[in-house]
Amino acid sequence: MRLVFLGPPGAGKGTQARELARELNVPQVATGDMLREAVANGTPLGREAKAYMDRGALVPDDVIVRLIAERLAQPDAKRGFILDGFPRTIPQADALERLLGDLGVSLDRVVYFDVSDAELVRRLTGRRSCPKCQSTFHVTSNPPKHENVCDRCGSTLVQREDDREATVRKRLQVYAEQTSPLLDRYKKRGVLRTVAGEGKIETIHGDIKKAVNG
Ligand code: AMP
Repeated sequence: MRLVFLGPPGAGKGTQARELARELNVPQVATGDMLREAVANGTPLGREAKAYMDRGALVPDDVIVRLIAERLAQPDAKRGFILDGFPRTIPQADALERLLGDLGVSLDRVVYFDVSDAELVRRLTGRRSCPKCQSTFHVTSNPPKHENVCDRCGSTLVQREDDREATVRKRLQVYAEQTSPLLDRYKKRGVLRTVAGEGKIETIHGDIKKAVNG
């Protein structure tokens, strides 16, 4: 299965991609997680990406495309993958098409997560993230067992710099301008499936499986 999870920040792509990737035994390729790891490790990529990320802007296409090309060349991606947070611009989608063409494969499905703006702002500003294992929680709707402590690995949770309200609004604007035009492209290709991204995590998971297999 070669899948793309498409949707605005806060739509639940990461949570759902992690679970489905585990079930399908394919890697979850999350550009945001890869970039945050590079920032945490202080690599040249991380140093270049940080300023864009902190202000809610997109990291330049050529940087991201290089990152994805390297990742998809890894042996585990031969089985398939779930792209989570990529592509996010038309040039990125073009580059993905070329990369997959070179590998002689194509996308099976693009799953679009439909969530209202009000809900996205609520989710993102209340989100608390584990800097170590990338698990996410929400201050009211999915709090950790112990305040500010990751249930999974015990690290102290943080609010991502870009989950502050002003940056969240900027990220939603960037999504509307640069990423949402991709919907039309994948619709025309016949691979787009829309899933309602509000409701219970398990229900959404079931809907995604139907969308992917249907
Ligand atoms: P995310 O965790 O997917 O919301 O990504 C966090 C931040 O990483 C974004 O706001 C961008 O600054 C950067 N980023 C992640 N994926 C991409 C991408 N495909 N293209 C450009 N920037 C990205």
